[in-house]
Amino acid sequence: MESSLEKDRAWLEIDLLALRHNVEVIQRELSSKTKMMAVVKGNAYGHGLVAVSKYLNKIGITDFAVSTLEEGMTLRKNGIIGNILILGYTSIQNIKYVKKYQLIQTIIDFEYAKKLFSLKETIEVYIKINTGMNRIGISYQEIEKISKIYEYPNLKVLGLFSHLSSSEQYIENDITYTKLQIKRLQIVVDSLKEKKIEVGKIHLQSSYGFMNYPELEYDYVRIGMILYGIHSEYNRKLKRNLELEPILSLKARVSSVNLISKGEYVGYDRTFKADSNRKIATLSIGYADGYPRSFSNGVSEVLIGGNYVPIIGRICMDQLMIDVTGIEVKQGDIATLIGREEKIRADYLAYHAGTITNELLSRLGARLRCIYLEKK
Ligand SMILES: *Cc1c(COP(=O)(O)O)cnc(C)c1O
Repeated sequence: MESSLEKDRAWLEIDLLALRHNVEVIQRELSSKTKMMAVVKGNAYGHGLVAVSKYLNKIGITDFAVSTLEEGMTLRKNGIIGNILILGYTSIQNIKYVKKYQLIQTIIDFEYAKKLFSLKETIEVYIKINTGMNRIGISYQEIEKISKIYEYPNLKVLGLFSHLSSSEQYIENDITYTKLQIKRLQIVVDSLKEKKIEVGKIHLQSSYGFMNYPELEYDYVRIGMILYGIHSEYNRKLKRNLELEPILSLKARVSSVNLISKGEYVGYDRTFKADSNRKIATLSIGYADGYPRSFSNGVSEVLIGGNYVPIIGRICMDQLMIDVTGIEVKQGDIATLIGREEKIRADYLAYHAGTITNELLSRLGARLRCIYLEKK
């Protein structure tokens, strides 16, 4: 039963069957050697860390990646089973929680590995290899240091992974750089094998690496973005063509409908001036909900009663105004601000606001309730 409070003002709807569809579409592409690791960092890209992960568990996903210790702990406290890899840094004094909650820590660099070794705490780790992103990881050239980590008795090395910096676009320059990163990772793997080290699992691709390099077959693909049915950039040409469905909709109620005369203004700083008599509706959502203020004044449209209508004037903290001239609209009606329809797709909106989808979605505020739909 949906509580009346949930849909009082503004909210998110997450379509779990669409999530399931995306999982199935992705898994269909994987060879029997490769598994999907679901990336649920950043509150599952704004879709709700716990609810999304629980549903993924329910449909058989048992490998997760988060970026922080707290996200990993939250998953365990909510009964998530399987492997949970922390992609980012955890301070040495909090490593005890990695053990307590049976999480997997990424080795950030060699100094970090030595500190973990001296703690004597038995934990599972992955070694991050820097093959050219230059963010975190041990350089692919440091074979001696990498092999040393495999010898530390308290560190159970599950394997190693790296991250591609330039897989979004399938163009010559980027392909060359990606191939270089692939080669560098292979150098590490081969060198360790030569030393008779059991390397463990290997992974390199995230969503775009998976979409643009279908020929690669590592043990895992780390999938974030496309799980949620989105691309970070609008209209990207990709090697794989998958029928993904955006799973999130952002909705808000109409709080007020007003008629204004030609020459009147709307909103702060009077940035909108009516050039004729207009009908204006106010929506109960604003930038404090994470709906970007840069969408003001016609940059984006919302869908109401089957019509696209422009946002007019400046978006306020908790409210915004739309032009509904000629449309039947009353207080309490629902407008959709982000959804599956072309002009309100998250990637389309992000593109027009000069950002990427991941940022737009992951910033949708804590004030919004998430409603999870799971109907046939
Ligand atoms: C965020 C992240 C991913 C997932 O990236 P998507 O593009 O959303 O699929 C994978 N690996 C690492 C290391 C990440 O930081």
